[in-house]
Amino acid sequence: MDLLNTLVDKGLRRETPTRAEALAVLATSDDDLLDVVAAAGKVRRHWFGRRVKLNYLVNLKSGLCPEDCSYCSQRLGSKAEILKYTWLKPDQASEAAAAGLAGGAKRVCLVASGRGPTDRDVDRVSDTIKAIKEQNEGVEVCACLGLLSDGQAERLREAGADAYNHNLNTSESTYGDITTTHTYADRVDTVQKAHAAGLSACSGLIAGMGESDEDLVDVVFALRELDPDSVPVNFLIPFEGTPLAKEWNLTPQRCLRILAMVRFVCPDVEVRIAGGREVHLRTMQPLALHLANSIFLGDYLTSEGQAGKADLEMIADAGFEVEGTDRVTLPEHRTGGGCGSHESRGCGSHEGGGACGSSGAGADARGGAAEEPRPDLVAVRRRGAGTDLAPNA
Ligand code: SF4
Repeated sequence: MDLLNTLVDKGLRRETPTRAEALAVLATSDDDLLDVVAAAGKVRRHWFGRRVKLNYLVNLKSGLCPEDCSYCSQRLGSKAEILKYTWLKPDQASEAAAAGLAGGAKRVCLVASGRGPTDRDVDRVSDTIKAIKEQNEGVEVCACLGLLSDGQAERLREAGADAYNHNLNTSESTYGDITTTHTYADRVDTVQKAHAAGLSACSGLIAGMGESDEDLVDVVFALRELDPDSVPVNFLIPFEGTPLAKEWNLTPQRCLRILAMVRFVCPDVEVRIAGGREVHLRTMQPLALHLANSIFLGDYLTSEGQAGKADLEMIADAGFEVEGTDRVTLPEHRTGGGCGSHESRGCGSHEGGGACGSSGAGADARGGAAEEPRPDLVAVRRRGAGTDLAPNA
């Protein structure tokens, strides 16, 4: 297919595809799906080999958020029966992080619900970062605390944070449909603050919220413009008790096309499969490793993922290898300065859910039936941080 040859050539040269090309990837048929995966897989292997970076989420503070992000189980008014707790102490967070690192993760993503941190919160998280770094040599730490005020990114950097995550989530034109308590511009501003402070920026999206193909391409092109080092791709987890509970718009095939499009537009960036991997890709997860070079190990913020052992087995069975702490994730041209020892970063942040206006233009009109709702696959997290039970790692 000429389209795919063109996209591979551009990906190897780090050249931006046209919008029409990106849209064409999303419009490919199921008959062409393996060709799409193979083409994007060439780009992935060129920049990242067969390595898979593992990241581990620690939810420092869960639920009770005053913001109204409609995809989020921690939002204002959420009826989702998630764990709710206030700030973990540094030693509790460090213990949770250690489990993920022992399981093979090289980055810990410290996430807290809320609009953004107070200066006191930055102090708490700084103490936590120091505790984790003291106890785990070579670990990368990413913070994900919401909107940043002036000076906070610099303070996190001084405390040892390597990266900061804040997702754009969806296109600028539909942002107001999913959240009213802050704006798309607020989110862009925080990513830029992280960048400016020398933190590795991590920013991504949530697919499956009823957005159109154009919205998806818009947000991915906006991300390319912001130039984060890592791009987490969340697939909406339609939590019961949130406004988007009925938004089951994704098929495994559509998820693969979305990941391929992200890889073609952001060829040399750490593309991470974030929340919703197990729920929407299901048995097709191993194919997605040909597109993304990074996943979360174990559980998500408020939902449970597949067993960490199953993640590791999947990676090995698919012919990939877990990236060690001795390897730099990003290609050399992206590591010229900034953040400490290693490479890129990024986290999944405030987990996926979503939905808004439109309709699911994508709801797989092309090839493949629309997704059957699978609430049976959404398991609220009941172990790990904030509980007395061992974490999944
Ligand atoms: S995504 Fe973050 S800011 Fe939005 S409701 Fe959830 S925890 Fe709050």
